[in-house]
Amino acid sequence: MAAQDSVEHKYVYDFAEGNKDLKDLLGGKGANLAEMTNLGLPVPPGFTITTEACKAYLATGREPDGLAAQIEAHLESLEREMGRKLGDPQDPLLVSVRSGAKFSMPGMMETVLNVGLNDRSVVGLSAQAGGNDRFAWDSYRRLIQMFGKTVCEVPGEEFEHALDDAKRAKGTQNDLDLDADDLRGLVDAYKKIFAKHTGREFPQEPREQLDLAIRAVFESWNAERAVVYRRQERIPADLGTAVNVVAMVFGNLGADSGTGVAFTRDPGSGAQGIYGDYLANAQGEDVVAGIRNTVPLQELEQLDKKSYDELLDYMARLEEHYKDLCDIEFTIERGKLWMLQTRVGKRTAAAAFVIAGQLVDEGLIDLDEALHRVNGAQLAQLMFPRFQLDHEFQPVAKGIGASPGAASGKVVFTSARAVELAAEGESVILVRRETNPDDLNGMIAAKGILTSRGGKTSHAAVVARGMGKTCVSGADELDVNVPAKKFIVAGQTVNEGDVVSIDGTTGKVYLGEVPVMPSEVVQYFEGELNPEQADDALVKAVHRIMTHADEKRRLRVRTNADTGADAARARRFGAQGIGLCRTEHMFLGDRRELVERLILASTDEEREAALAALLPLQREDFIDIFREMDGLPVTVRLIDPPLHEFLPPLEQLAVNVAVAQERGEDVAKEEALLAAVRRMHEENPMLGLRGVRLGLVIPGLFAMQVRAIAEAAVEVTRSGGSACPEIMVPLVGAVQELETVRAEAEKIIAEVVGDSGVEVLIGTMIEVPRAALTAGQIAEAAQFFSFGTNDLTQMGWGFSRDDVEGAFFWRYLELGIFGISPFESIDREGVGRLVRIAAEEGRAARPGLKLGVCGEHGGDPDSVHFFHEVGLDYVSCSPFRVPVARLEAGRAAITTTGSDSR
Ligand code: ADP
Ligand code: MG
Ligand code: MG
Repeated sequence: MAAQDSVEHKYVYDFAEGNKDLKDLLGGKGANLAEMTNLGLPVPPGFTITTEACKAYLATGREPDGLAAQIEAHLESLEREMGRKLGDPQDPLLVSVRSGAKFSMPGMMETVLNVGLNDRSVVGLSAQAGGNDRFAWDSYRRLIQMFGKTVCEVPGEEFEHALDDAKRAKGTQNDLDLDADDLRGLVDAYKKIFAKHTGREFPQEPREQLDLAIRAVFESWNAERAVVYRRQERIPADLGTAVNVVAMVFGNLGADSGTGVAFTRDPGSGAQGIYGDYLANAQGEDVVAGIRNTVPLQELEQLDKKSYDELLDYMARLEEHYKDLCDIEFTIERGKLWMLQTRVGKRTAAAAFVIAGQLVDEGLIDLDEALHRVNGAQLAQLMFPRFQLDHEFQPVAKGIGASPGAASGKVVFTSARAVELAAEGESVILVRRETNPDDLNGMIAAKGILTSRGGKTSHAAVVARGMGKTCVSGADELDVNVPAKKFIVAGQTVNEGDVVSIDGTTGKVYLGEVPVMPSEVVQYFEGELNPEQADDALVKAVHRIMTHADEKRRLRVRTNADTGADAARARRFGAQGIGLCRTEHMFLGDRRELVERLILASTDEEREAALAALLPLQREDFIDIFREMDGLPVTVRLIDPPLHEFLPPLEQLAVNVAVAQERGEDVAKEEALLAAVRRMHEENPMLGLRGVRLGLVIPGLFAMQVRAIAEAAVEVTRSGGSACPEIMVPLVGAVQELETVRAEAEKIIAEVVGDSGVEVLIGTMIEVPRAALTAGQIAEAAQFFSFGTNDLTQMGWGFSRDDVEGAFFWRYLELGIFGISPFESIDREGVGRLVRIAAEEGRAARPGLKLGVCGEHGGDPDSVHFFHEVGLDYVSCSPFRVPVARLEAGRAAITTTGSDSR
């Protein structure tokens, strides 16, 4: 064993040693650099320090044993390969130090370029570049700037101000007008800034630069903005980042050099073609930062046909290889193309569907894989409403449709103000010249993001697309003045608080609030667009993938609907029944008065009269719904909330009584109501007299509802329809409760149904933990179970939902006690375990017991997968979530092990 102990842990991999499947260890960037290297694409040589080294560093605060020596060895072999030594005064090797986690976190983490430059090697670099002083000093000032900002936390603005000063002194706006002398002066200014903030000189020792930069990349994993981004994107906090050390290639050597980004298809729409931005005479970060205006990639064909053709060839090869949309970073150094990064590219929801469809057509993937590549969150996005435009609304500006959607809201200019107003419940549009990682919280809070600069690949665009947030970038007609909190467009001034509307598909900007209309995908689900005829690639792709999901899924999808209209819409959206028809709203409005009579009844006669008056109204409600759901099951839940919810609040009644007394009016009824409210007051209404408990305490209440359901079913059936009611008893915790209700209900049903052929099932909700734990007994009395996962979560955790979400969930999320609210997505280990137990023990007691879920989890993608695994028969969710649940149920049925759907 001793021999094994001495085997050193491998922390550093040469690019030739890795491949694309090693993302956990090498990060996405490193794994894909390795993959491209092995495909024979021109990647500058380099090596990757693993995420394990990072994790070890973060855990202990120092580099793990052996790391330094391994870096040394790989650096030496890199120097040998390049024929140069790091920071050599005559002919320096320079490297970039690049972060790269398993999941891409655009702009969140750190990269330092030109490591190895110092006062001496800058001269050597110039000489090697044929006496190109300008290039050498430009590279050096970039190093000090990036190193200062990311490694030593020097405020970035200070460097930017110095750069602006230099440009102003030169009388130019363009950094390309700065010559070698200007840049040499700028290096001096930068060094002073560096020394002022760090209390030391800029490090001249190349190896020290390298080690500090590596350490800074490790630490950037825990930078606040990275933490915020991970939480938003639900990326686990313990993955760590890899570090890539890559030999520098130079896009800033002159007009025959440059740098760019490219997509193999349009990440916005999915359309085939060549998309990207190119910037001549620049280093990589200039493109992403949106600092200078890029040209469309197509123009590279004129500038450098050889590199352009070569790039197109590599793009085709990468697509073929990854069988998906790829995005690429490249640099051209004096006519020689270098590939600096690729990955399976982020895309909009629409593009995800369109591309999946195209790849099936091209024979690269099959329909299962296409289904796997889209998800319910994307589909939900495509169901967002869109602007309804008429002549009244003319755009005042047009930028780039960077992330689709239609958003209206009050203009704000800072992240902090966005967060503030959003917390007050306002919709806001964050307007900036360009965003940077510090704007992240504001971007999360905003309905939409509008910038005056930057392309499809700017920070704003990339981050907004990732979040599924509407974004228009590069609307350069906007003159944005952040300090003055206003922007000017088309001669008009728009101040903070004014309302604007932005269309992230077309890039158009409107003043005021533009009304919205249903999206194409919703029109398709509504049956208003025929997918065979639509010349719309998106509708066709959605149709095709939904059809496949429906074929594959085992789970049925029902809807929660309380009215005929909701039921009808849900049915058009593909619902296969109603899983939850709440009856409480049927006691509101002008029926309240009957409920008051019921509550105040002091004799059997009074109570029976009130119930008798409610019966026909209830019957009509059910007839309407049974007609709409003709032939499909309808689960009706008997009344659930505490009755005092139907009475006016205590304070209001007290005032009414006082006012009426003052006026000398008859206050008998108000006083009676007031007394009732006082009597019925509960400290914990959610745990009080509600659900089945009401049915057992108030004679005739459930009986009236059962009778209304049965009579409605008989009437619909007699008139040629087919009603399949399932009566559901809420809040059962013990089989005896259910047995009592059931005995009475069965009598009524037998009497009403007679020989009409109508069959009425009786079952229960499983939403009290005790019910889940005694499911075997309860199943003896229940023909079906429906999991009420909202209450089950509430009671399982002991959370009062209305109180906890606002009060402290943020802290729980921050501490990572849970990654997502258990009300949003089912807590598999705890509440999910209750579901599992009840499903197993229920089915053991009554084979074939019908199982469903009717909490809001029924429309949550992750929860749908869980319910599939547990073996439920159906999920039920709100009408708009029905397509999402269908899609996810299909995905759950084909999910292959180990696949990564992010
Ligand atoms: P990010 O993850 O933020 O894109 P990168 O590590 O990709 O950061 O680097 C930032 C920019 O610097 C990119 O445009 C990249 O192409 C460029 N870059 C990185 N390494 C090199 C290199 N060795 N030579 C030239 N440019 C580089
Ligand atoms: Mg990059
Ligand atoms: Mg409930």
